[in-house]
Amino acid sequence: MGKRNSDAPRLSREKKTVAAMIRIYCRAHHRPDGALCADCRSLHRYAMERVDRCVFGADKPTCASCPIHCYRRQMRERIREVMRFAGPRMLLRHPWLAIRHMLDDRKPAPQRPKKAAD
Ligand SMILES: [Zn+2]
Repeated sequence: MGKRNSDAPRLSREKKTVAAMIRIYCRAHHRPDGALCADCRSLHRYAMERVDRCVFGADKPTCASCPIHCYRRQMRERIREVMRFAGPRMLLRHPWLAIRHMLDDRKPAPQRPKKAAD
């Protein structure tokens, strides 16, 4: 009880990866000065919350290989656009995070937990 998903190192790494991708995307499309625009700030907040509430907890697969689609439709479309754009650029900007993420991505998703949050 009271232990948040984000206590797990894999999940804090995932949060860093997602946050870095949103920054790359926003800088290229909205705010060249590097500050997140309001839309991307809310997307970022939403994405962090999804990781915290992931029903898989510390066994969380990467979102791309997850069988559960927990994002609201609109947010899902936005994050997919961000990842499509920022994914390839991650290797240059954050090679370590990108490589770890690719390795995580190859792990199969665990069995769906019995009680999914939604
Ligand atoms: Zn933005």
